[in-house]
Amino acid sequence: MDIHEYQAKELLKQYGIDTPPGALAYSPEQAAYRSREIGGDKWVVKAQVHAGGRGKAGGVKVCTSDTEIQQACESMFGHKIVTHQTGPDGKGIYRVYVEGAVSIVNEYYLGLVLDRTTQRVMIVASAEGGMEIEDIAQSRPTSIIRATVEPAVGLREFQCREIAFSLGIDNSIVQNFVRLLEGCYRAFRELDATMLEINPLVTTEEGRVLALDAKMTFDDNALFRHPQIAELRDKSQEDPRECRAADRGLSYVGLNGQIGCVVNGAGLAMATMDTIKMAGGEPANFLDIGGGATPERVAKAIRLVISDANVEAILVNIFAGINRCDWVAEGLVQALKDNPVDVPVVARLAGTNVEAGQRILASSGLPIIRAGTLIEAAERVVNAWENSKQLSQRKKQPSKKVKAKARAVRQAVDAKTTS
Ligand code: ADP
Ligand code: MG
Repeated sequence: MDIHEYQAKELLKQYGIDTPPGALAYSPEQAAYRSREIGGDKWVVKAQVHAGGRGKAGGVKVCTSDTEIQQACESMFGHKIVTHQTGPDGKGIYRVYVEGAVSIVNEYYLGLVLDRTTQRVMIVASAEGGMEIEDIAQSRPTSIIRATVEPAVGLREFQCREIAFSLGIDNSIVQNFVRLLEGCYRAFRELDATMLEINPLVTTEEGRVLALDAKMTFDDNALFRHPQIAELRDKSQEDPRECRAADRGLSYVGLNGQIGCVVNGAGLAMATMDTIKMAGGEPANFLDIGGGATPERVAKAIRLVISDANVEAILVNIFAGINRCDWVAEGLVQALKDNPVDVPVVARLAGTNVEAGQRILASSGLPIIRAGTLIEAAERVVNAWENSKQLSQRKKQPSKKVKAKARAVRQAVDAKTTS
């Protein structure tokens, strides 16, 4: 789960990390009021969206008066911001963070990530602050400093100092940097984060080391241990399809194709999507019903997939171990009877109670196409989808009568213009 910059800063402050004074606003008037509370004569208005690259996309604006703050807000509130991290649809701006402007001496990049290969927390730093890490990795890969933390001993002070020296941080403020990095590591571990990025981390004339931007991602599977973090979820920033599924306790991943997939288990989901692609189709999503799914749970899953406007065909692929094919079939039939669809549905059931499941599908009176193997199922769903597409195109084509009328009108117009 991702959180907003202002939320990450709030958390990091509790770990002793220095940040500029700031406050959240939900309207231009509130933003101006907030700036007066903060004090000073220069502020930065920052769009709160779950994406970086806001600066280049007009989501970070420096202001020196109430009017400028209100103007900056008006260009943000209710609009969508598109950055290289938001995807082409962009993300809606519903909150802004007003922050005192800082006079920066140097900008650095600092990131903590869970490195799956080494199974360690890795610290990534660079003196090329403000730039995206992917760009730094391309333009000056040697400027990236990496350090791995041994979990048995934790982050050592000497490692922090080494990083500070490699970044060229002035001796007089190395200790401030060390405290900040130690705080970040503690926050990362204690809050079960999978990513913490401060870009830029800045130094000031007064010798402060500040987090000017902050991004944090948390391990969804550990959120039950941190209810205060789970509460920070902002659904306006997430794929609405994935939100609806999460609210119903289902794992759902939205994609860009046309074939909706209902499966059990992530491995089978991957195999199903690969096979659909091999058969010439593109998955619109995949929904994992998990193990031991009741007919009600299966029906909920099918309804969710049906509600996705991109879905033009559905493939239900269940390899039942703990699951029961008869329950899956019951749920599928129930959902299709309650919500009749005009898209083809293919079901491939295998494993526990498969005969009972097949009987339920066969006696349902619904046009569910059955398949025995995954490849067969994928080919059938792609064929059925292509056929239904052709059929609907034919339906959309004007009838002979309409065509004749259109021809008559065209001829009449032609006759007028030539006479
Ligand atoms: P993003 O990474 O989404 O573009 P940042 O928060 O990193 O957003 O802001 C972009 C740039 O704006 C920063 O690199 C920094 O130069 C400047 N900036 C951001 N906040 C402040 C601030 N409080 N004072 C001065 N400059 C700031
Ligand atoms: Mg940034």
